[in-house]
Amino acid sequence: MTIPLKDLSSSEVTCSNCRACCCRLEVMLITDTGVPERHIARDRWGGETMRRLDDGWCSALDRDTFLCTIYENRPWICREFEMGSDECLDERAEML
Ligand code: SF4
Ligand code: SF4
Repeated sequence: MTIPLKDLSSSEVTCSNCRACCCRLEVMLITDTGVPERHIARDRWGGETMRRLDDGWCSALDRDTFLCTIYENRPWICREFEMGSDECLDERAEML
């Protein structure tokens, strides 16, 4: 049986039972971690973020596996985003 995400306690929250909710957030690039150019969006002032596609997810996300295709080069913000944190739980709740 699949447990609805809203019924999961924080101890049951893992990325493997999540559809990469946090990969729909705006991700600013503040250090150079080697993100490929094709995944970078620039605003008119030169600010860089991860490119997002029309479905809302980051362009570096594999739509079939919901895994990051550039894991070794993912941005600093992605590295810092903590599974089970308040931000994580907020994002999961919004996807219900
Ligand atoms: S960190 Fe949280 S929101 Fe992001 S994929 Fe993992 S469980 Fe989902
Ligand atoms: S770079 Fe990877 S971890 Fe970061 S938002 Fe995109 S798919 Fe998710």
